[in-house]
Amino acid sequence: MTSLRIILHDQLSDNISSLEGLDSSSDIILMPELLGWAAAVKHHKKKLVLLFSAMRHFANQLQDKKINVVYIKIEDNILSLKDAVLELKKQYEVDRIIITKPSEYSLWQDAQKLNEISELEIREDTRFLASTSFFINWAEGRKSLLMEYFYRSLRVKYDILMEGKKPVGGKWNYDASNRKPPKSGLEVPKPFSIEPDEITKNVIATVETKFPNHFGNIKGFHFAVTRSDALLALDNFINNRLVLFGDYQDAMVTGEAWMYHSHISFYLNCGLLLPLECINLAVDFYNKGSAPLNAVEGFVRQILGWREFVRGIYWFKMPQYKELNYFGANRNLPSFYWDGNTDMNCLSQCVNETYDNAYAHHIQRLMVLGNFALIAGINPQEVNDWFLVVYADAYEWVELPNVSGMILFADGGYLASKPYAAGGSYINKMSDYCRGCKYKVSEKNGGNACPFNYLYWDFLSRNRDKLIKNHRIGMMYKIFDRMDEKKKNAILHDSEKFLDSLF
Ligand SMILES: Cc1cc2nc3c(=O)[nH]c(=O)nc-3n(C[C@H](O)[C@H](O)[C@H](O)COP(=O)(O)OP(=O)(O)OC[C@H]3O[C@@H](n4cnc5c(N)ncnc54)[C@H](O)[C@@H]3O)c2cc1C
Ligand code: SF4
Repeated sequence: MTSLRIILHDQLSDNISSLEGLDSSSDIILMPELLGWAAAVKHHKKKLVLLFSAMRHFANQLQDKKINVVYIKIEDNILSLKDAVLELKKQYEVDRIIITKPSEYSLWQDAQKLNEISELEIREDTRFLASTSFFINWAEGRKSLLMEYFYRSLRVKYDILMEGKKPVGGKWNYDASNRKPPKSGLEVPKPFSIEPDEITKNVIATVETKFPNHFGNIKGFHFAVTRSDALLALDNFINNRLVLFGDYQDAMVTGEAWMYHSHISFYLNCGLLLPLECINLAVDFYNKGSAPLNAVEGFVRQILGWREFVRGIYWFKMPQYKELNYFGANRNLPSFYWDGNTDMNCLSQCVNETYDNAYAHHIQRLMVLGNFALIAGINPQEVNDWFLVVYADAYEWVELPNVSGMILFADGGYLASKPYAAGGSYINKMSDYCRGCKYKVSEKNGGNACPFNYLYWDFLSRNRDKLIKNHRIGMMYKIFDRMDEKKKNAILHDSEKFLDSLF
């Protein structure tokens, strides 16, 4: 019996469920670089290089183990999964197809169509720590979901940072000790970087020619494209940056795109790293006394908590989740999201770093790029489209809940208990961006005022009926209502003028 086992661009793990029970004497592995997938979204060029190069390295490693791999390159112009299988069937007899459930809804739909060709088995993606059924059991019947409780249930399930039934140190969450503003003179260690080998150089050339209009700077590609190098990147984080990860998790510094973050989402999301090994390495480091609990617990929570939580929500709520627009936000995305051409220094810095690196850290995505999209009332579809294009770690399963749920509150509070709306003072506290800005963060309205300041109130005013009863943000209306009419009118007038000037 010949099984055709398919491995997609983000399934590059030896322990992927589609390989379980592999019979290397008869089975065939199909690894397709799909043109339909690559061109449907104008992915950052560095993301395409990362994935195609990592796929090619992974295929070589399988072939070294004498496994029969049929590899379809992007130059072969095969559009869909079905086309790829039909192409392969011109040469091989296949009795059944085995695939691990694709991470994104549309590819999952494509995969289901393969049963028109042969007997089909779609297997659970066991690399995640919470299966979709575990999440559904936990979530069903709850009106709104709190990540914190979900995270605690996984801490117990996997016995991570636990002392018996209690969390290590007595608390589940050490965020109160995290998130310090950046000190001047911080010496941030350099991120992991590796020179492209011949395979990667070839992929860079192909992506340049085949996808010239995609977003992003392809120069300076330095990501790992093999598991062994991804493990070195993880090691680099654990040894050099984990200690200060918690302290500077929210800090943003001009010229320091990478800060103390781990930069492993690209590898986790395509399978070169596995979530539990990253968590265990950080916990071991804590157990050796090499990193403080606030840093390690914070890092563990991002992977065990947030990453699993957003994936659970995605599969629980798709496909409706994509259509949600609680505030009825309908403005177009301003062009500066693509070219960084704006006098707002924070936005310009974050867009330019995104363009160069296919990376921005969480607070840049949340409190600068996301916060602006929220308070300016940008249509969720346009914001989602942008976030899916620009990051090397972007896949709809993780991007959509973060954008529609976390930053835009488009789901009406299912994922987050309040919108992360903020004026300029938060950005000023956590970064040095305001010092280099044309606008004055201390001014609340008028031509020189920081646009975040008046847009924040304008956002609250526009959405009063939807937010006044929110227990975490509703009290802000008391402050707004106490402002004199002249000031309120100035805020609304400045907002209208500013927003009109953008489009
Ligand atoms: C608007 C917005 C869009 C986002 N889009 C994506 C995306 O497309 N892909 C993606 O992987 N992450 C996304 N995130 C989450 C987070 O910003 C990135 O995972 C993180 O910045 C990646 O950098 P890092 O590896 O240095 O993470 P670190 O800060 O070092 O965190 C460690 C790991 O925790 C996980 N993690 C942390 N926060 C989240 C989160 N909110 N959701 C899911 N996983 C998390 C990631 O796997 C990350 O690698 C988004 C966040 C926001 C606010
Ligand atoms: S003043 Fe406002 S627009 Fe300028 S960098 Fe600060 S927060 Fe951004």
